[in-house]
Amino acid sequence: MRGRLGWMAGLIFAAQIGMCQAMPEKTADAGIAEALPQISAQRVQADIEKLVSFGTRLTLSAQDPSSIEAGRGIGAAREWIKSEFGRYSKDCGGCLEVKTDSFTEQPTDRIPKPTEITNVYAVLKGTDQARSKRIVLVTGHYDSRNSDTLDTTGDAPGANDDASGTAVSLECARVLSKMKFPATIVFLTVAGEEQGLNGSRHFAKMAKEQGWELEAVLNNDIVGGDKSAEQDHSVVRVFSEGVPVAAKEQDVRRIRGLGGESDSASREVARYIADVGRTYDPGVKPMLIFRLDRYLRGGDHSAFNQQGFSAVRLTEYREDFRHQHQNVRTENGIEYGDVPKFVDYDYVARVARLNAATLASLAAAPAPPANVHVLTKDLENDSTLTWDAAPGATSYEVLWRATTSPQWEHDQSFGNGTKATLKVSKDNVIFGVRAVDSAGHRSLPVVPVPER
Ligand SMILES: [Zn+2]
Repeated sequence: MRGRLGWMAGLIFAAQIGMCQAMPEKTADAGIAEALPQISAQRVQADIEKLVSFGTRLTLSAQDPSSIEAGRGIGAAREWIKSEFGRYSKDCGGCLEVKTDSFTEQPTDRIPKPTEITNVYAVLKGTDQARSKRIVLVTGHYDSRNSDTLDTTGDAPGANDDASGTAVSLECARVLSKMKFPATIVFLTVAGEEQGLNGSRHFAKMAKEQGWELEAVLNNDIVGGDKSAEQDHSVVRVFSEGVPVAAKEQDVRRIRGLGGESDSASREVARYIADVGRTYDPGVKPMLIFRLDRYLRGGDHSAFNQQGFSAVRLTEYREDFRHQHQNVRTENGIEYGDVPKFVDYDYVARVARLNAATLASLAAAPAPPANVHVLTKDLENDSTLTWDAAPGATSYEVLWRATTSPQWEHDQSFGNGTKATLKVSKDNVIFGVRAVDSAGHRSLPVVPVPER
């Protein structure tokens, strides 16, 4: 453990030179580390090629029994995903509950007539009665499109966008279903993304209405690592919202007053992914992007953000827009279309390992502490934090960083107490508190709210 003088000197030093110092690395969980190599680039390739084989997966494409039989259209893709989840469940003695969330979407500008949309998901229920209410979720969209988002019959291979993200959900389900966790993991694939996030919006609303304790949503969309010259195959971008879209007026006032613009719960998930990347080294480094999404683009994570859930988006480092939302063709020697040959299956597998390590770490961890407060009754330079005990926790850590630093810089354990006083001024840093279990699994951190 670092001495008090040591960390104070470190903090002052870091602040003086404007440097961001990362926290010491944590020890990996041996079970999680052993599971990650089972995520296979060959399986990813087979999944993506199978999804592409359905010709088009446009949400408006065929889903009648004869098209499903013929293996063309979104209905055939949906049935195949269901059967895959079912197969993984058979292999783990029925440990996965395979479910669908079906509804009829009424006409919009991208949906000309009432259309049935089906999300397919598998639930790996937590083994601890109380803690299984906590849920972490990974998602990708299995629908695709070509140049015309209303073209119901033309080919729309969608190998990168987003068979790659669908393959991440499938591989995480296949490998993590062989393990047991106290909290619940949901492996989701949604439709309707290209028509306006219809599937994820319906699913997120359902989760909200049913009172799901959804702690983190990892949305993988375009994680194929397109093989263009300027691609960086060692990096995956992680987008997270700043001021939460679901923040109420009083929350926004507090955020404004205290400088909390970079501490949405979604951003803590992004930082958690960065920590997991350092601990498990899946071969791809999370690059945190502090904005909701790319210019002119949207994704399913925002549908979860709208309902007040923490959700982030993972996307390859550099997109090639000639290989997205395009009819497959060659023009002036340039190849257009989202076909498998541009996808780097090893890269997708590495991104899937980062997802699996994050899901496993969160599902193994205790609940985050509730009612985290920083006492602000009197003017003082010391900082006192309090919190409620969290189910499954054996100790608690206080984290902090300079207000200008993107990632947590320091952590200090305070045993199993629920109160800590630090010789660090709350005026100068941002604090967080997380719960830790006896095996060293760490919860998401919670940033304190002031208590007078
Ligand atoms: Zn997409």
